[in-house]
Amino acid sequence: MKAYQRLIEYVKIPTASDPYAPEDQIPSTECQWQLARYLKEEMEQLGLADVYLDEHCYLFGRIPGNIPDFQGYTIGFIAHMDVSPDAPSENVEPRIVHYLGGDIMLDEENGVCLRVSEFPQLAAYYGEDLLMTDGKTLLGADDKAGIAEIMTMAELLLSHPEIKHGPIMIGFTPDEEIGRGADMFDVARFGADFAYTVDGGPFGEINYETFNAAAAKVTVRGRSIHPGEAKDKLINAAMVAMEFDKMLPVGERPEFTERYEGFFHLCHLNADVEQATLEYIVRDHDWDKLEQRLVQLKAAETVLNSTYGAGTVTLELKEQYRNMAQQILPHRHLLDVPIKAVMAQGGTPAIIPIRGGTDGSRLSYMGLPCPNLGTGSFNHHGRLEVASVSEMDQVTRLLVDIAAAYADVERKEEKQAE
Ligand SMILES: [Zn+2]
Repeated sequence: MKAYQRLIEYVKIPTASDPYAPEDQIPSTECQWQLARYLKEEMEQLGLADVYLDEHCYLFGRIPGNIPDFQGYTIGFIAHMDVSPDAPSENVEPRIVHYLGGDIMLDEENGVCLRVSEFPQLAAYYGEDLLMTDGKTLLGADDKAGIAEIMTMAELLLSHPEIKHGPIMIGFTPDEEIGRGADMFDVARFGADFAYTVDGGPFGEINYETFNAAAAKVTVRGRSIHPGEAKDKLINAAMVAMEFDKMLPVGERPEFTERYEGFFHLCHLNADVEQATLEYIVRDHDWDKLEQRLVQLKAAETVLNSTYGAGTVTLELKEQYRNMAQQILPHRHLLDVPIKAVMAQGGTPAIIPIRGGTDGSRLSYMGLPCPNLGTGSFNHHGRLEVASVSEMDQVTRLLVDIAAAYADVERKEEKQAE
């Protein structure tokens, strides 16, 4: 079976996660169980060992190694089962379009159209088969393409014993799209030394750098006095909140930054005279620069409290995740192996820093260093999502080649202390 055929089956099962579900409810939505059970059965049919679906909807399995006395690394592959809640994802109608240039109209009635002018990468797919929807829902290639490729890799390895490899672990997780996919991941049970998440991006994309991330909540307590008698007495929380934001550099916002440039992003603002809250996310690939940004926020708090009185402004900072590069770079083979394997297929490896986090950025700090590989799809989280049939084949082959290559990677360094 080809990876895209699996994808067509998987996307028919709706699996949107829910950011508003209580934080201790994992998975956040019941529907994710349906795909998990479907995949569990498929894993068992394919002949995977130790297939295990835990009480939080994490599904693990193992492709037994076929090298006697294998001493090398145990590698894992991970993908997420949920899809983004940001676009409709029920009743997905997948279809294949043989692309012969020009714009692709997905939904005439609502004018949902893939235009070359907006998505110039389309031109590269001339003559290829592309999987997309009828424009009424997202496709769900993020990340069911990753699941389909990993399952197809498993099928290939299990039916071709002449390909020599160590034990290969497979993990499918819930709730990645709402940032909780690593929460209940049992790294010890998974039992791999290293893993790759297979999620997003075209074939050949390799990511090992993510942001360092913190959240900042600013609370301003004002003092309301009738405006007629306000002189020297009123503290307008809304105005103080605006002053706070003005102390941050205008150019360092997401809308003005790219590549390795960090930012402050005001996500939420609520203000009246008596009370105001500002919620920011703060991001930087460089840890020192992230810390400098946190110092800038503290300085703004200090200045405003000395102007308006202690306790007027309260700043709460919370670390969210860290750049996984620090956990991955000590193990260069994690990048060298996929780079070589992409090139062996005539592909061009594209090492791209992620302006965000992945489950891997959390897992890498939980003791499972975890770069990311592209799945051969693009335009995720929306109605214009597309997966390339041929790139999905290439990614599947890439996973098989990585599994095989690790038969020859010598165990050198000990696993890093957590
Ligand atoms: Zn994803």
